[in-house]
Amino acid sequence: MTKSAVILETDASGVKEAVFAAITVAAASGDVIALTTASADSVQASCAEYGVTQLISINAGCDLDAHPDARATAFAECIKAHGITDVIAINSMEGKDLLARMAVILDAALTTDCLSIDVAERSVKKSYFAGKALATLTLPGDIALYGLRPNAVAAVAAPSTPASEDFTASVTAEGIVITDIQGGEGASTDLSEASVIVAGGRAVGDSSGFDILNELASTLEAGVGASRAAVDAGYAAHSMQVGQTGKTVSPNLYIACGISGAVQHYAGMKTSKVIVAINNDKDAPIFSKCDYGIVGDIFDVVPQLTNALK
Ligand code: FAD
Repeated sequence: MTKSAVILETDASGVKEAVFAAITVAAASGDVIALTTASADSVQASCAEYGVTQLISINAGCDLDAHPDARATAFAECIKAHGITDVIAINSMEGKDLLARMAVILDAALTTDCLSIDVAERSVKKSYFAGKALATLTLPGDIALYGLRPNAVAAVAAPSTPASEDFTASVTAEGIVITDIQGGEGASTDLSEASVIVAGGRAVGDSSGFDILNELASTLEAGVGASRAAVDAGYAAHSMQVGQTGKTVSPNLYIACGISGAVQHYAGMKTSKVIVAINNDKDAPIFSKCDYGIVGDIFDVVPQLTNALK
């Protein structure tokens, strides 16, 4: 019988938005257990809003957030102890790291970057070949682990009253120890989780050309992305690259500024819900791929857009 759980990934403001969609997906097949290393108090309200039925706070004799190996072992112990069969995490850096370690410990099937998940059927949809093929996969074994692409599925509020309990894992500090984390360039917003992205292409001209995009992004509380041409030219950090050899993103709104719309770029943002393109060439390929197109110079249009939004 299916027993589903969701990993609660948190940041300074609480449970990450993208996790709520994972809860919605898990809830489609019945009760949802939420697994966290955070205190129950700090996540209880979010769990109750989206339909979690049971909240388990996992702890051990070491700081699990500083010991990724021990953390994965502790989650695995809890999953086994509770007879959990299916576990969904968001397809973030942290989620993928945890899922991969757990897959080894639990000898479980793992699929990452899922566009949709049917837990009851043990089936997922994933895109391949830069989005040209959509595959349906089924997962074998006693336990299945899934990474859900942020923003691929809409979260649906479903009020519940989660029961909460603690689970103390027997694991002690082992393996890798994280001693320090420093944000890199462009690290303010994780693009793959952003619900709005403003992206710049070669047309920005130099790194200071991103100033107008940063201002628009801060008005919209958006992440800032870039095309490979902008990254290769040194205008933007590689962590900002969207596309086949960069990040795959699925925001609700993607604003492409001075980006031609090459297939390799489109592959990384085609699942955006709404695409807006600003380009001074009315024949640019991006205009056949967007929902709204503005023919104009980004240095005129973007500041006007920012002022209007302000
Ligand atoms: P360009 O193609 O040069 O387009 C610039 C656009 O800006 C033009 O359409 C122009 O009309 C417009 N423009 C110019 N000035 C202005 C202005 N003032 N105002 C408004 N518009 C203006 N690319 C990626 O982005 N991501 C990837 O991950 C990626 N992976 C790749 C992998 C492989 C194997 C290969 C071969 C290529 C890959 N590329 C990738 C590169 C891709 O093919 C394109 O070269 C790249 O996306 C082009 O970037 P761009 O649109 O910024 O530049």
